[in-house]
Amino acid sequence: MTIARGKTIAVIGAGLIGVTLARRLQRDGCRVVLFDPDQPGMGCSFGNAGYVATDEILPLSHGISFSEVLKMLPDPLAPLTIRWRQIFSLIPWFLKFLAASRPKQAAKSAAALAALQKGSLAAWNKLIREEGLSQMVRRNGAMLVFESEAGFARESVKFPFLDQHNVKYEVLTGGQAREMIPELGPKVTNAIFYPRGFHVRDPLAVTRKIFDHFITAGGEYSAEKVTSFDHRGGLLKGLVTGQGRRQADAAVLCAGHQSGELMRLIGIKAPLVAERGYHVVVDHKPLSFDMCLGSHERGFFITPMEDGLRLAGTVEFSPAGKELPANWKRADILAHHLEELMPGVAGAETSRWMGCRPTLPDFLPALGPAPGLENLYLSFGHQHLGLTLAPVCAEILSDLIAEGKTALDISPFDIKRFQ
Ligand SMILES: Cc1cc2nc3c(=O)[nH]c(=O)nc-3n(C[C@H](O)[C@H](O)[C@H](O)COP(=O)(O)OP(=O)(O)OC[C@H]3O[C@@H](n4cnc5c(N)ncnc54)[C@H](O)[C@@H]3O)c2cc1C
Repeated sequence: MTIARGKTIAVIGAGLIGVTLARRLQRDGCRVVLFDPDQPGMGCSFGNAGYVATDEILPLSHGISFSEVLKMLPDPLAPLTIRWRQIFSLIPWFLKFLAASRPKQAAKSAAALAALQKGSLAAWNKLIREEGLSQMVRRNGAMLVFESEAGFARESVKFPFLDQHNVKYEVLTGGQAREMIPELGPKVTNAIFYPRGFHVRDPLAVTRKIFDHFITAGGEYSAEKVTSFDHRGGLLKGLVTGQGRRQADAAVLCAGHQSGELMRLIGIKAPLVAERGYHVVVDHKPLSFDMCLGSHERGFFITPMEDGLRLAGTVEFSPAGKELPANWKRADILAHHLEELMPGVAGAETSRWMGCRPTLPDFLPALGPAPGLENLYLSFGHQHLGLTLAPVCAEILSDLIAEGKTALDISPFDIKRFQ
C-alpha cells in the first residue's frame, strides 16, 4: 500500500529510531505526529556508547555458541548474564535464539544485516549533512581490543566475511595499538582498527537536535502513550491513547523494547527481550584519543563524550516491556574494567544509567509492514545497533510508505518470521 504525500503518519515512540523516521517522513512530504509519553530520546537511545558501527555486519549472536552463553549466564557480573528470577519467561526467547543460531539460519541473518548495513554509512552522512550534526561527531575510527590471543583468534574467523563485504579494518599487535592509544595498558595483546567507524559525543543531543528541527518544520509531538489501534477490515483508522482517539492515515511502531505490548493487541507475536545495558560516566585525565574503543572480552565500550568518558555495555537478559530494578553492581564493574585496560586514566564517577536494548532472537530488527494491517509499519528490535541503523531504517520505511517499495529486499526483517 502507498500513502500519498501530505497524509498524516503517526510515529509511535520518540527514541532515535522514531525521531529520525519522523524527520525523514516530514522531509519526504508527510504530515507527521510523534507520540511518546516521555521526552524524546530518554529511552534506550539516551545511554548508548555512541558508536556508529556501520562496519558491524555480523549479528551479535554470530560467533558465540549457545554453550558459551550458558557458561556465562550464571555469573551476575559476567559480560553476559540473565535476571534469574525471570528465567521462565525468558525460556521461549532463548529457544528461538537457539534456532536462529543454527549455522544455516545464522548465515542468512548475517547476509541480511550486511545488506542493511551497506546503505547505513551513506544514510548517516546524509543525516549529518541535512541536520547539521558534523560538530557532534568524531570521525577518528574505532578500535576493538583483545586481552588474549585466543579471543583474537575467535574474532579473526570473521575476516573472510568482512573481506567479502568490503569492510575496512586493520589488524594491530598490542604494541601497535598502544602506539595509537598510549593510554592502553599491557593487558592488550591485539586489536582491530575500523577506520570508517565514528562516534557521537552526546547521543541525547543528536536526538534532540533532529527533534527540534522536526518541530520547527511543523512536526507535531504528542506526549501521550498509545494504548491500542483503531482498525477495521485490515486497515488502521487511528490510534487510541489515554486521552482518546487520534486519526492517522498510517502509523509506524518504533516503541523499542515496549513494542511487543501493542503487537499483542493485533494478534502478532514479537518475541522481544530487553537486553539491559549499563553505563557510567567518569572524569578523566587529558586523553590522547577521541575514538570509541571496545573490549572484546569485557563486552563494553569506552567513549570520550561531552560530559566525560562513557563506559557503556554488557548484557543482562530480562523480559521486555517490564520495569525491573537495576543491578548497579553491573555498573560498578565498568570502572574496574577501565582501570584494567587503561590504568590511571579514570577520575571520579559523575553519573550512571541503565537501559533496555530491544532484541529479537535473530538479532535483526523488525522492519516493514505489520501482517494483517496494511497501513501499520514496524521499526523496532534494533538491539545493539539502533544508533547506527536509525538513518538507513528511516530511509527504507519512508520509501516503503510513500512508494510502496524499497531498493533493499526487506523480507528477512519481516516479523512474520516468528509467527
Ligand atoms: C549500554 C548500551 C550501549 C549501546 N551502544 C550502542 C552503540 O554504541 N551504537 C549503536 O548503534 N547502538 C547502541 N546501543 C543500542 C541502541 O541504543 C538502541 O538500539 C536504540 O537506542 C533503540 O532505539 P529505539 O528508538 O528503538 O528505542 P528507545 O530509545 O527505547 O525509544 C523507544 C521510545 O518509545 C516510547 N514508547 C514505548 N511505548 C510507547 C507507547 N505505547 N506509546 C508511545 N511511545 C512509547 C518510549 O517512551 C521510548 O521513548 C546501545 C544500547 C545500550 C543499552
